[in-house]
Amino acid sequence: MGKRLVFIGAGHAHLTAITNLSRYTGDGHTVTVISAGSYHYYSGMGPGLLSGVYTPQEVRFNVKRLTESRGGEFIEDKAITVDPGKRTIQLKNGKTVDYDVVSFNTGSEIATGPVDASYDNIFKVKPVENMFIARCKIMEALKKGPLNIAVIGGGAAGVEMVNNVWRIAADMKVESKTKITMISRGKLLHRFPPRVRKLAVKSMNAKGIALEEDMPVKENTKEKFLLEDGREIPFDFAFVATGTKPSDLFKESGIPTGDDGGLLVNEYLQSIKYPEIFGGGDCISFKPRPLDKVGVYAVRENPILMENLYAALSGGDFQTFKPQEVYLLILNMGDDTGIFNRKSLTFAGKLAFKIKDRIDRKFMRVFQLSNELDDKVECSNAASMG
Ligand SMILES: Cc1cc2nc3c(=O)[nH]c(=O)nc-3n(C[C@H](O)[C@H](O)[C@H](O)COP(=O)(O)OP(=O)(O)OC[C@H]3O[C@@H](n4cnc5c(N)ncnc54)[C@H](O)[C@@H]3O)c2cc1C
Repeated sequence: MGKRLVFIGAGHAHLTAITNLSRYTGDGHTVTVISAGSYHYYSGMGPGLLSGVYTPQEVRFNVKRLTESRGGEFIEDKAITVDPGKRTIQLKNGKTVDYDVVSFNTGSEIATGPVDASYDNIFKVKPVENMFIARCKIMEALKKGPLNIAVIGGGAAGVEMVNNVWRIAADMKVESKTKITMISRGKLLHRFPPRVRKLAVKSMNAKGIALEEDMPVKENTKEKFLLEDGREIPFDFAFVATGTKPSDLFKESGIPTGDDGGLLVNEYLQSIKYPEIFGGGDCISFKPRPLDKVGVYAVRENPILMENLYAALSGGDFQTFKPQEVYLLILNMGDDTGIFNRKSLTFAGKLAFKIKDRIDRKFMRVFQLSNELDDKVECSNAASMG
């Protein structure tokens, strides 16, 4: 008899399974995809969306159309709790959805810590749509006069933000009048090899970006950050890139989680307690070993999830997810250059960005199967990007 397969979150790790829905429906199963928006944005190109190197239509997948064109049902909504005993999902709109097998790819949220990001001039670096909304607002404001822009968080995302927001000002020829400050609680890029950090600092110095290292933010208003040492950093716009955490969905639903609150899964990307629950991407906590919250793993989990969901529905062997020990990371430095790092190989320059651009565009071509490039987005309709 046909079973009900439900995908929660049409994120990076679900794209292969959703593209191949006919494998499940062909066996008589029904498929429902529930995601917070009709589009899924590719985070790797988010900084380029901020700088204007990419348009919104270049960096997103129409997951609603992808699902429906393949015979699935798409519900645009958020899952708020799961009842693993009754096998039901409670949605924000009040509806309940039943499942026999469910897979979660709901990503992560920015852990804002002491920063109050509730103001409309402070942008969290996730969801990725925020990058375009920020771009539109900053360009409009730069036309009127000089700006102070601050970025909180000295990790990879923060570095990409300061450099790509600089690009907006540079393209408008007002970079010398735009004060950009990076505020990092610890050392900039402290989790990366020293050479990556050195190259990033060099590039930021050349652009005139101010760097406050080892300097936690204590609190903020809509206009300024108060630092631990008592100084104040005024800003017109700010970005918060202070690390990520999975949502409380799993904890609140009584499903086993890892230390980070992510859905605790085994080597088959399957809940350690509920064999009909699977997951991938930033929202999982991989029991065999902790994984960094990077899209690289989410992307690699695609074929494993597709196969294991099929095995859970129709029978067959589960496949094991074997995460790579080291992965390639290329920082987009905003000026058509990048910083490339894989193991001990680190270099900066135009070639690094070219490699990143080629990898990212290739990934987009695989899953942009729904005429995405025809759906133009301008600043005037940015509010309806989801
Ligand atoms: C600025 C920036 C740049 C980055 N660059 C890179 C990079 O170059 N390389 C790299 O490897 N990693 C990069 N990362 C990390 C990367 O963003 C994440 O690891 C990646 O997004 C994880 O993918 P995901 O599919 O798990 O989550 P997401 O991309 O967050 O997708 C989750 C999806 O689920 C939906 N959703 C969320 N909650 C719910 C809910 N409750 N119910 C239903 N749907 C829901 C969302 O709408 C979204 O579509 C970057 C991160 C940032 C912030």
